[in-house]
Amino acid sequence: MSLAGASQDSQGIAAEAAGCADTPILRERGQREVFCGLTGIIWLHRKIQDAFFLVVGSRTCAHLLQSAAGVMIFAEPRFATAIIEERDLAGLADANEELDRVVTRLIQRRPDIRMLFLVGSCPSEVIKLDLSRAAQRLSERFLPSVRVLSYSGSGIETTFTEGEDACLAALVPEMPAEPGTARSLLVVGALAEVVEDQFIRLFAALGVGPVRFLPSRRASELPAVGEGTRFLLAQPFLAGTARALEARGARHIPAAFPLGEEGTTAWLRAAAEVWGVSEERFTQATAPGRERARAALANHRATLDGKSIFFFPDSQLEVPLARFLSRELGMQPIEIGTPYLHRQHLAHELALLPAKAKLVEGQHVDRQLDRCREARPDMTVCGLGLANPLEAEGLTTKWSIELVFSPIQGYDQAGDLAGLFARPLVRREKLMV
Ligand code: SF4
Repeated sequence: MSLAGASQDSQGIAAEAAGCADTPILRERGQREVFCGLTGIIWLHRKIQDAFFLVVGSRTCAHLLQSAAGVMIFAEPRFATAIIEERDLAGLADANEELDRVVTRLIQRRPDIRMLFLVGSCPSEVIKLDLSRAAQRLSERFLPSVRVLSYSGSGIETTFTEGEDACLAALVPEMPAEPGTARSLLVVGALAEVVEDQFIRLFAALGVGPVRFLPSRRASELPAVGEGTRFLLAQPFLAGTARALEARGARHIPAAFPLGEEGTTAWLRAAAEVWGVSEERFTQATAPGRERARAALANHRATLDGKSIFFFPDSQLEVPLARFLSRELGMQPIEIGTPYLHRQHLAHELALLPAKAKLVEGQHVDRQLDRCREARPDMTVCGLGLANPLEAEGLTTKWSIELVFSPIQGYDQAGDLAGLFARPLVRREKLMV
């Protein structure tokens, strides 16, 4: 089931002024068309290499994972679904006992697992299976070799990138305490290793550090956190993780997100300012990357310049993407829909959006489809469920989920990111010849 739970309230539409930017926001609540938080497992299991994700869910959840991950499994997968059977749903079996049995068998079979996530789903929420207590109980049994944590990836009222937020927030209490107040930088949000390595080199050239990443490549090597920790968000969908880090004494460095030449420079600059890096050193460290990014973007500008774009709310990357596409490639956002709009985390982004773009938070899919059909944008960014019907109506679409799976952050990915939007337009032009 890729259609996550629809909310019940279908009439509330309100416009109000955004806090930091004066852009009016249209709030919509209604039928939503998004993947659920289980989807995050697809990229998280590749990132955290000694973790295993056990979804406690239904056959539907298992099918979602298998079909989303199907083309990406090259080795023995590090995720599975413990299927809640009808007996469990009817209360005829003790779901906790069943779960303990499944976990014990799994850990015996897979001695490489160091961290096991029990991932909640709609069915586990419906039968009120307390996975945090189960995780505590199982941790007591399997520590020190395996730590068991839990989070929810349920589709009830959540969108697919929230799975990563919930997973990282579950990791925060496990991070060791940083002794003293020595300053360190924590980059928060799953990044492709190639991107992480580029940022490590850039921060080293700036003299910013030590630099750590959450999630770390190994769950058994979580970074330390404390009063000296300053953190940069690499993704705009990590509100819960940011709150958990702040509760541990870390402080957020407000910044635009590292998409495109401008966003990456602003993101690096925010950290450089905290570390008191001189303008000269900043320019020296960033100039080659900026130059490469500008050159790569120039290849796509002719295709994208002046083209209109319409975002359905899906990945929560919509606002930074619209900023990047409008300012660096000349695209014209008509409507920027996003499931949740965190004003504080997006303040730098909102200030850079074109004044004409309509901002929408939440979703009422029918109304939004009507507006999209009326606007006939050159490009529509949406979930898989909407893309095919819209393509059939002659609209060019881009799957938003591809933007989460692809390495798109940083200078050396700016051209690839632009290419993801240029390709569908070039393809359609060719088909029309
Ligand atoms: S968690 Fe809910 S929305 Fe997601 S696949 Fe399972 S049943 Fe469907």
